[in-house]
Amino acid sequence: MYLFENQNAHILYVGKANRLRSRVRSYFTGSPGPKEQIIRRDCIAIRFIVVRSELEALLLEMTLIGRLQPPLNAVLKNERARVYIDIDKGLAHPTIKLTRRMPEEKQHVRFGPFPSTTAARHVLSVIRKLFPYYTKKHDARRSCLFCHLGLCPGPTDSVNITLYKTTIRHIQLFLQGRIDKVVRELEHDMQEASKKEDFERALSLKQTINHIAFVTQPVIEPDLYVQDPLLLDRQRAHGLSSLQKLLKLPSIPKRIEAYDMSHLQGTDAVGSLVVVTNGAPDSQSYRRFKIKLGGENNDLAMIAEVMSRRLKHTEWPFPDLFVIDGGSAQRESAERIIRQSGVQTAVIGLAKREEVIVTAYGTIKLPREDNALQLLQMLRDEAHRFARSYHHQLRKKHLLGA
Ligand SMILES: [Zn+2]
Repeated sequence: MYLFENQNAHILYVGKANRLRSRVRSYFTGSPGPKEQIIRRDCIAIRFIVVRSELEALLLEMTLIGRLQPPLNAVLKNERARVYIDIDKGLAHPTIKLTRRMPEEKQHVRFGPFPSTTAARHVLSVIRKLFPYYTKKHDARRSCLFCHLGLCPGPTDSVNITLYKTTIRHIQLFLQGRIDKVVRELEHDMQEASKKEDFERALSLKQTINHIAFVTQPVIEPDLYVQDPLLLDRQRAHGLSSLQKLLKLPSIPKRIEAYDMSHLQGTDAVGSLVVVTNGAPDSQSYRRFKIKLGGENNDLAMIAEVMSRRLKHTEWPFPDLFVIDGGSAQRESAERIIRQSGVQTAVIGLAKREEVIVTAYGTIKLPREDNALQLLQMLRDEAHRFARSYHHQLRKKHLLGA
């Protein structure tokens, strides 16, 4: 964020940019428009505020424009362009919507004006995914379209009003830019929920916390990789630590082994093992198991065979996590063999299409953008690729041998 200040310490203009230096320079180079002319004439100081993410920049821009009323931020001149987020706390089930007029009633809490309707809509769409809310009076018993999309708390008869009011309070804090406070409260609620053994609520709070971490993560631009060669490592580390937290592993999963079973027209069944070491594919450690079990395409028996053969290789470094391609049946088949040999390492399943993680304690559906999920997807794609390349080789060999 950058703020142009005049000699009376009044703010003339508030703007945001990913590349501050070149944006700010653009006001002072080239032929000036009306705004640039005033800035060049009156600006004696430029202030900078660094925020982590695009979303926080948007919220701060809104707060600063509202509080400082910079004369050059066009939004204030054009009254009809002003757009606010309005929370109606007077209702039994408070609603949130966009509004253009200043509500008079006291029970309304208002945020804005936003620099554009698009900006305000963007903020609301992010918030609604984190904290489902009502936009208007809701049917007491019937679900609406937004209920099905997970954006609405549900029919009012079935909603817990205390929890919903907490949600509204969190949205208010969020809009004030006090995101860290929201996260701290959610973490506290999560601990309380698991103490009371309300694991469903604890998990849902955990997912909200992960999702907030995602929407507030720093914007990554391609040229940042050039400036910061360690960025990729840091992202990998983030993926690993969120996986550790998510699966409650005793340590960071330094070595992860992923297994994929595949067959070519039922004849050449093969199990592939791919390895991720410190968050990066470790192709030197990839292995293939040509299935010895004859005949049928029994996935579960194949997994059992591959797992028991792997466990005999005590010379290979031992993983901190096993990932099995498939659902709970596949996971359990692998786990049975692993536990039989006295190993306690966690085993999870990664279901193909639904992006669902199957653990010993139930399934976890992750937001698509979650770092932990991205890591697992990379692992799974790598396993498929490796398996396919083997079939390709085999097919070639058959052709050559014929
Ligand atoms: Zn609804």
